[in-house]
Amino acid sequence: MTKPDMYAVFGHPIKHSQSPQIHSLFAQQTKQNLSYTAVDVPPEQFESKLRDFIEKGGKGLNCTLPLKELAYQACLSQSERAMRAKAVNTIIADDQGKLYGDNTDGLGLIRDLTVNHKLQLAGQRILILGAGGATRGILAPLLEADPDEIVIANRTPAKAKTLSEEFASLGKIRACGLSQLNHSAFNLIINATPASLKGDTLDLSANLLAQGGICYDLAYAKEPTTFVQWGVQQGAYLSLDGIGMLVEQAAEAFHLWRGIRPDTQPILKMMRG
Ligand code: NAP
Repeated sequence: MTKPDMYAVFGHPIKHSQSPQIHSLFAQQTKQNLSYTAVDVPPEQFESKLRDFIEKGGKGLNCTLPLKELAYQACLSQSERAMRAKAVNTIIADDQGKLYGDNTDGLGLIRDLTVNHKLQLAGQRILILGAGGATRGILAPLLEADPDEIVIANRTPAKAKTLSEEFASLGKIRACGLSQLNHSAFNLIINATPASLKGDTLDLSANLLAQGGICYDLAYAKEPTTFVQWGVQQGAYLSLDGIGMLVEQAAEAFHLWRGIRPDTQPILKMMRG
């Protein structure tokens, strides 16, 4: 048997990453001969570990927290969506070891919302909590889905404002501080802060969610996250975590590397247990 093509995910910390399991299930399903490992890489070691990996013949890489901006800088060229996000979560190495960067996070979220959960985004009022790298990655595809408006609320209001200005040409977008959030009746509230991973609750008022509205936590865990629990308490029609987005962004990365799109439905079933 020929040597498997080598892929990996770099992050810090990385111990709990589910990406090796997801990509190994994709590889089995599509009969691809590849290996995929999780490597703990602190930011200061990113450049050297990346060089080693490519020199050893690595074909592609996922990068997660806190390395997506460094990955963006390390690539010789990037996709338009990666340039908008200024962050790369998927690297493709060509035969000469030249690196191309893409960002599949936004597409992963949109596919989970609109394909897996059959939700409509056009005309909806969307609230995003947080203004970090993940928000950067999801803003353009969300705005392209033609919502009525997007409000970004962040603990540090200036960061939300910067993002709203940067993406204003793509659609109606406003910014405020988390504590100044006084709008109501959002059809979709997305938590793009890692607060719920630490079990923290965001101090949100009770009138934010419209009747029949959806809550979506980009974070995911074995048990319902604190934000998913908040959504249930608010009477959300659906209160979801980010495992669907994780699987869908991985499927898009796999497609970029292997030219074949795995069927995510059986994998999602397995991951949700
Ligand atoms: P990040 O760049 O570090 O940004 C974090 C944001 O959350 C910042 O705006 C920060 O506010 C805010 N924040 C952090 N702790 C907070 C707290 N306790 N209370 C209120 N606000 C808080 O992180 P990121 O890359 O955007 O990731 C955000 C989340 O998305 C993480 O949980 C990550 O795992 C998840 N994610 C999931 C997927 C998936 O496939 N499901 C993909 C990407 C990311 P300040 O600006 O005030 O610091």
